Amino acid sequence: MIVNSKEMLEKAKKGKYAVAQFNINNLEWTRYILEKCNEMNVDVILGVSEGAIKYMGGYNVVVALVTSLVKDLDIKNDVCIHLDHGSSVDVCKKAIDAGFTSVMIDASKNELQKNIEITKEVVDYAHERDITVEAEVGHINGNAASSSTKEFNARLEDCVAIAETGIDSLAPALGSVHGLYKGDPDLDFDTMKEISEQLDMPLVLHGGSGIPEADIKKAISCGICKININTELQTAWHEAVLKFIEENPNAYDPRKVIASGKDAVYKMIEYKINLFYNK
Ligand code: 13P
Repeated sequence: MIVNSKEMLEKAKKGKYAVAQFNINNLEWTRYILEKCNEMNVDVILGVSEGAIKYMGGYNVVVALVTSLVKDLDIKNDVCIHLDHGSSVDVCKKAIDAGFTSVMIDASKNELQKNIEITKEVVDYAHERDITVEAEVGHINGNAASSSTKEFNARLEDCVAIAETGIDSLAPALGSVHGLYKGDPDLDFDTMKEISEQLDMPLVLHGGSGIPEADIKKAISCGICKININTELQTAWHEAVLKFIEENPNAYDPRKVIASGKDAVYKMIEYKINLFYNK
C-alpha cells in the first residue's frame, strides 16, 4: 500500500530499527527496490530528489510510475513516495498535489528563523492533506568526495525550536555527507542521542552510503529511524555495468545494459535492509 511515513517511522522507533530510504532514478531502480523490499517484507521509503523528478519527466510521472508498479507487481509491503530535499514551499506543494505521500523541506541553507518559517508553511499545507514532513537543521554537505565540517552540525536548541513546527521527523546534520566520504565519517553520536531523548521524534540519517556497520548500529541506538541511501546503489550498479560493457562491447540493447547492474543493486539493497532492520 502507498502510505505516508508516519506509522512506519513510529514502528521503527519502537522496534529500534531504521526504515531505508532508497533514492530512485528511473523505472528500473524503482522496480528493483520495490521487488526486493517486498520479497524481504519490509516497509520502504522511495526518495525522489528534484533532479530525479526532472529526469523522469515530472511529479505526476513519478507518482504514476510508483503506483503502477505497486499494482502490476502486486507489491504488498508499505511504500512511501517521499520528496527528498524539497528546496521551497512551492516544490513541496507541487509534490503533494501530484500524490507524493511525504515531503522533506530543506530550508537549512537559511538562518534558523527563516528555516522554521518555511518549514511551518509546508507542515500546515501537508498535514491538512495527511502528508508527513521531514525537515533539516544544521546543513548536510553534498557532492562526491566531500567530508563534513562540524560548523554545519545541528545544535540541540535549534532542533527543539524547529520541532515546534509540528514536523514528523527531523534530519539533524551531525557529520554525515552525501556522496562518497573522504576519510572516515565522524558522526556526533552524543548530540544525536541528546536530540532523540529531548524530542522523542524519529531522526533521519542522510548520507547513509559509506558509513561503517558499527556506526550505523550506533546511530540506530541513538535514535535514527530512517537512513537514506543513494550513492551506494549507484556505485554498485556502475561497477557491474562497466564489467558487462567491457565483456560485451557490442551489447546495444538498453534493457540488457541497464539490467546488467540489477543483481548488484539487489545485493546492495538486501545488505542494507539486513543491517538497518536488524534482520
Ligand atoms: P548518500 O549519497 O550517502 O547515498 O545519501 C543519500 C541521501 O542522503 C539522500 O538524501
